[in-house]
Amino acid sequence: MKSRTIRLVVMFGTAALIGLLAIQIYWVKNALDLKEREFNNNVQMALMKVVNQVMTFGGDTTQIVEPIKQLPDNMYVVTINEKIYPNILEALLKRQFEMHHLDMDFEYGIYDCNTNNVIYGNYVNFDELKAAFQQTITPKKAMSTVFPRLNKDEYYFLVRFPTKKTFLYQQMGIWVFSTIVLVLVVAFFSYAIFVILKQRRLSEIQTDFINNMTHEFKTPLSTISISTDVLLQPNIVNNPERLMSYATIIQDEANRLKNQVERVLQMAKLNKEKIKINTEPYDIDLLIKDAVEKLKLMIYNKGGKINLHLDAAESIVQLYKLHMQNIIYNLLDNAIKYCDDEPVITISTQNVKRGIEIAVSDNGIGIPVESQPFIFDKFYRVPTGNVHDVKGFGLGLNYVKIMTEAHKGTVRLKSEAGKGTTFFITLPIEKE
Ligand code: ADP
Repeated sequence: MKSRTIRLVVMFGTAALIGLLAIQIYWVKNALDLKEREFNNNVQMALMKVVNQVMTFGGDTTQIVEPIKQLPDNMYVVTINEKIYPNILEALLKRQFEMHHLDMDFEYGIYDCNTNNVIYGNYVNFDELKAAFQQTITPKKAMSTVFPRLNKDEYYFLVRFPTKKTFLYQQMGIWVFSTIVLVLVVAFFSYAIFVILKQRRLSEIQTDFINNMTHEFKTPLSTISISTDVLLQPNIVNNPERLMSYATIIQDEANRLKNQVERVLQMAKLNKEKIKINTEPYDIDLLIKDAVEKLKLMIYNKGGKINLHLDAAESIVQLYKLHMQNIIYNLLDNAIKYCDDEPVITISTQNVKRGIEIAVSDNGIGIPVESQPFIFDKFYRVPTGNVHDVKGFGLGLNYVKIMTEAHKGTVRLKSEAGKGTTFFITLPIEKE
């Protein structure tokens, strides 16, 4: 898939999912509001019935204006002119709540306004069977509410539903289910996007690697091919010197090819097993000076220079000489390769907490921020379109990381595109 298509798919998919989630939240909230309104209506109706029944029971036919008032915290105040008997009230409340499908626990309290006292209060477990069972193992639940004392003249009672929220949520079954399904869809979509992006990066790396391979192998192969053409000329036997020189070219190029294949194969194997190296104490300063000596000519040929600031007082490190040499060599080689002008390279060392830090910095092309997280990945090269002016397989930094970690060290970089790069290697110094 083209990257533009992938970007569009990701963008539209994400927008669609955010839209879906917003709609879902809106509907869930609406449904909850509706359920709550329905609940309040049912409570009002049930209590109204109770009021009428209590009044009829007491033989009172006067109509009380607005006898039921809803207070915050799921509480209802019901005014009644009659003396209220707890047993009768409880039975009426239970019956009416059941008839209005309010199958849940409730608490009530009866007030005598003359003495300003709660004359009776109880917590009613709606499910009688459950209540009976619970009473055998746990004591009956105490009232959880301290009912407010209202300034009223008549008798009144209060009802509260402590489990109202749970009751409403239980009624939202289908909405909970659809929300779970939606969350699962979002999770799967995010995972699919993650896999697509990962696959795309892998396929880019693969294409890049194949392009690099082709470029790296093309030059020696065409040299071999030209040399064989010369060797196939019939009169070449009369010129043994020429024959020798072309045969040597073929041998050199074949060796170069062999080394390259070997390098790729070795690196491909490297990650699979945990690297264990045998180390010995060695002066890192000497190792750096050695690598600089080997690459000095290459730097001078490009008109550049190299500065050394080997300031670490303690520079003896436990290391595997060949691997550490390669690490320094790879970093220096990159500093020279990835520089458009005359390279100015600085290598410095300093002692840090329980170790030594080696910094290799250059004034090269730098590494863009978006490439930095992948820079130590195997075969990764900063994308340059189809330009392959700097040769490589994207294996050097991977080797640097694996080998530094095998030395129990760490590697990090600081880079700005167009300004230059610094690689920092920190190695532990173990005290005897
Ligand atoms: P190679 O150089 O063979 O491509 P490396 O693993 O050494 O492989 O480097 C990976 C990529 O990191 C390079 O292709 C290059 O794009 C980038 N890179 C490495 N070192 C530097 C540097 N000093 N300056 C700029 N870019 C660098």
